[in-house]
Amino acid sequence: MFNKARLKLTAWYLLIIMFISTAFSIVIFGIITHEVNRFAGRQQVRIEQDLQERGFLSPQFRIVINPSLVNEVRQRTITFLVVINGVIFVFAGGLGYFLAGETLQPIKEIVDEQNRFISDASHEFRTPLTSLKTTMEVSLRDKNFTIKDARSLITDSIGEVNKLQLLSDGLLQLTQYQKPNGHMNMEILPFLTVVREAIRKVEPMAKQKKIIINLQVEEEKVFGNKYGLVDLLVILLDNAIKYSAPSSAVTVRSHKNDGSVIVTISDQGIGIAEKDLPHIFDRFYRADTARSRSKSGGYGLGLSIANKIVDWHHGMINVESQLKKGTTFTIKLSSRPFC
Ligand code: ATP
Ligand code: MG
Repeated sequence: MFNKARLKLTAWYLLIIMFISTAFSIVIFGIITHEVNRFAGRQQVRIEQDLQERGFLSPQFRIVINPSLVNEVRQRTITFLVVINGVIFVFAGGLGYFLAGETLQPIKEIVDEQNRFISDASHEFRTPLTSLKTTMEVSLRDKNFTIKDARSLITDSIGEVNKLQLLSDGLLQLTQYQKPNGHMNMEILPFLTVVREAIRKVEPMAKQKKIIINLQVEEEKVFGNKYGLVDLLVILLDNAIKYSAPSSAVTVRSHKNDGSVIVTISDQGIGIAEKDLPHIFDRFYRADTARSRSKSGGYGLGLSIANKIVDWHHGMINVESQLKKGTTFTIKLSSRPFC
């Protein structure tokens, strides 16, 4: 598909360039022919006058310039213009093919990324949907299926559907922050308000695990979108709580640094192995698939969404972690409008 589009675009480039070049050639040919005829006419008059003045030619005689000379000039001009157009055709073809490739490359990357996204997403949906379908089919075929069994099946199915809903919400959120030209209302915000809003959202989960969230945030201003920044902090706090043992602590700190706000979210949790650190921001990546999926039920979308939100804010995010000791995510955000 990409090659076909590239050839088509090359053909269009070529058509436009050859149209312009042929038009120029016709104009040049017209001008040269006109000039040669004019020159021949003037030369004829000049020679006649000269010969008449010297008495070599009586006024009733005319000098005729050999028309084959004029024709030769016209022929040579045509050959020259055909050769030039041929060279332009070859050169423009090569250049057009190269430029078409360069023009289509970003589009190809977006299409490839979208295809990868769709296939990743369908893969994630397919497994739980197949298991739901199989369980229901087996239950339907079971002649001793009781109301009690039906209740338990429905309860399990609702649990699975809830997880699928979480997955579709995550995917929606990811596409929303992935849009290259999407619009987000950016403003100067009091960072403390943003953090409090995020903590309010994860508090029930923290309480359930008896995890304390320490807040060491000063009255800094941050430039960004309120909902995006709350989502970002919720993702990081959710991970900090999810991957920590009960009764541990999570700390949110922030300080100002030369037009930026540096935020750290630290936990005393299970940590991330060094081999996983370069991949945790990849979509659907879970450091330990079995552990992450069975215990925390995540889909590996959180950090890729966080990464997109940070990109939106022209910020930076990085992570430091030690297995069984804890993890610290550091975010750098701007405190002033960036454009
Ligand atoms: P989701 O966020 O979609 O519910 P998730 O939490 O598994 O699922 P991410 O938030 O993208 O996905 O995190 C990716 C992986 O990085 C996690 O599966 C986990 O293994 C690891 N990870 C992230 N944050 C921490 C943390 N604070 N402590 C330990 N491991 C973490
Ligand atoms: Mg997560």
